[in-house]
Amino acid sequence: MKTSEMYTKLKNPRRYKFEKVKCYQCGSNKSSHFLIGEEDLTAKEGQFNYVQCDQCELVYQNPRIHIDQIKEFYDNEYIAHRKKKDWGFLTPLYNRAMSKHDREKEKIIKKYVNLNSKSKVLDVGCAVGTFLLHLKKIYKCKISGVDFKGDLSFPGFKKIDFHCGLFYEQKLPKKSFDLITMWHFLEHCYNPPKTLKKALELVKDDGRVIIEVPRLDSFTFKVFKEKWP
Ligand SMILES: [Zn+2]
Repeated sequence: MKTSEMYTKLKNPRRYKFEKVKCYQCGSNKSSHFLIGEEDLTAKEGQFNYVQCDQCELVYQNPRIHIDQIKEFYDNEYIAHRKKKDWGFLTPLYNRAMSKHDREKEKIIKKYVNLNSKSKVLDVGCAVGTFLLHLKKIYKCKISGVDFKGDLSFPGFKKIDFHCGLFYEQKLPKKSFDLITMWHFLEHCYNPPKTLKKALELVKDDGRVIIEVPRLDSFTFKVFKEKWP
């Protein structure tokens, strides 16, 4: 089925604005229908069309929801931004799960960088910054974060050199970071090539950029398909 035919069949609230996009990776506008996804994390209504590029096989949302409207999908219901205190009696469980998550990320970065008290780390899409605070506790390193939403009420957030807004619009010193991380950020980003270029400008020559994105060859995708969170 053609992408355009598929699009007309989607059920979406009228207030949503959509725009067509080309492949982020190769610029091609030829793609095939991949799947229709629904928003599970925040249970917002709507169906979203995903296509696969005919040329390079990248899968992306197309048409995508307009950038002016995306913020409402990252409200307090969105798990990565959720504050610890919101979880009520589940708080201890949530804290344990989050710190396990941060320890797993640390295991990954340890393979590539040796952090110390002089190191500068930037986490793009840092949310409330638990990963950065985890690194600071262990390595005493300097920590910076970017996100389009900060949360000063979160414990420890003030220890982060926080920059609010779009990553590629930030005025940060060039070649200054030993490590830049993007944990499930790039697939949310409206301009991945610009983001990657910016990261390369900011990282030191011997620094590292570590990126985690969802993989369509993962076991969880094979199991969940269009229900994949
Ligand atoms: Zn492509």
